[in-house]
Amino acid sequence: MKYYSLHNKSLTVSFRDAVVNGIAPDKGLYFPERITPLSKHFIDHINEYSNEEISLEVIKQFIGNEIPEEKLKEIIRETISFDFPVEKVKDNIFTLELFHGPTMAFKDVGAKFMAKCLEYFNRNTEEEVTVLVATSGDTGGAVANGFFDVKSVKVVILYPKGKVSEIQEKQLTTLGKNITALEVDGVFDDCQDMVKSAFLDTEVSRNLTSANSINVARWLPQMLYYFFAYKQVSQLGKEVVFSVPSGNFGNICAGIVASKLGLPIKHFVAATNVNDTVPNYLKDGNYLPKPSIATISNAMDVGNPSNFIRIQELFDGDFEKLKRNFSSFSFTDKQTRKTMQEIHDSSGYVSDPHGAVGYMGLKAYNLSNGELGVFLETAHPVKFLPVVEETLGIEIAIPEQIQKVMGKEKKSIPITTYNELKAYLNS
Ligand SMILES: *Cc1c(COP(=O)(O)O)cnc(C)c1O
Repeated sequence: MKYYSLHNKSLTVSFRDAVVNGIAPDKGLYFPERITPLSKHFIDHINEYSNEEISLEVIKQFIGNEIPEEKLKEIIRETISFDFPVEKVKDNIFTLELFHGPTMAFKDVGAKFMAKCLEYFNRNTEEEVTVLVATSGDTGGAVANGFFDVKSVKVVILYPKGKVSEIQEKQLTTLGKNITALEVDGVFDDCQDMVKSAFLDTEVSRNLTSANSINVARWLPQMLYYFFAYKQVSQLGKEVVFSVPSGNFGNICAGIVASKLGLPIKHFVAATNVNDTVPNYLKDGNYLPKPSIATISNAMDVGNPSNFIRIQELFDGDFEKLKRNFSSFSFTDKQTRKTMQEIHDSSGYVSDPHGAVGYMGLKAYNLSNGELGVFLETAHPVKFLPVVEETLGIEIAIPEQIQKVMGKEKKSIPITTYNELKAYLNS
């Protein structure tokens, strides 16, 4: 499969090069040259297939012959080795729980898939690749875990000192081996700026790549969630609307690719916190990126969502077509807390702040009788423990995956300036 740069369609590369480079030389995001719908028979009989069979069917066209099928099956097996249950919350509202992976964040799937692809592509080279990533919380842990002990890949994670939760910090600072955490005296935007500077700096001697959803190997596997959810609700005979708590819009964008593959999805709702660049764009067609605002659903604190340009491409740059299939609503922290309480009071379900934003997206869309809504629960409530416990007045049991890291010793290197990052990378 070939991928083109969204800045220049004639600039195409292989899947391998798209994964290894992350972003095109002209700074455009890579985009698959073709999206071929799957057979109707497969979609109609989806509940007869295992998750691994579905994954192979969905993903293989995006890789072509660049990874042998047996190897791809192995990568898939390692990537989706946990459950993706759909739970009924109330009436016609369901949630797809994406937090049963090793770090309890949905980013586990993309991170592991990308790590295993890079490992395969680097299998015969001695040259080391360095994955450089800035995190406001969840990405760091998933990337650290996904890439842990992967041959000839080093991972350098920048995170803002004192701005990530204790659990998140443990997840990214306790692994060791090929994973290094740099603790930046600043906010997330400072980390992000340093990472951008390093990518542009010709004096950085390492082979750098990114592990955020810009990378096609982290972005595309997220299509699978929508197939797994559809498999579980299709027999209810209703049209399905997905609401996705969105920050960089990679997850929802992958959902739209799933619908291009023939998955019958009635409508997409992108639910955001007060970082409302996209909801505002849908009102008047003006795309005005803004600096990010800190919220309790902090994995979505993004003022300029990097994947929105891919969504526009999927709708052929047609604003009206986009609006027919896609809505977006923004919500305040106050609304989020109130909704967490309401969901808990009426159904006993404990949602994290991101899931609650997704739930509100379905409410704002206003489902009809023939429709069924699925909101994506992107993180386990324990990842946002203080907010959830304080809002709901309950205590949450700490799952085993989390208990394991809490007992380990934090190891990080404090830095303040870009020059310190550069010195570290060149050492
Ligand atoms: C990353 C993240 C999101 C946002 O996903 P995007 O693909 O960036 O839109 C939502 N919720 C949680 C918990 C996340 O970690």
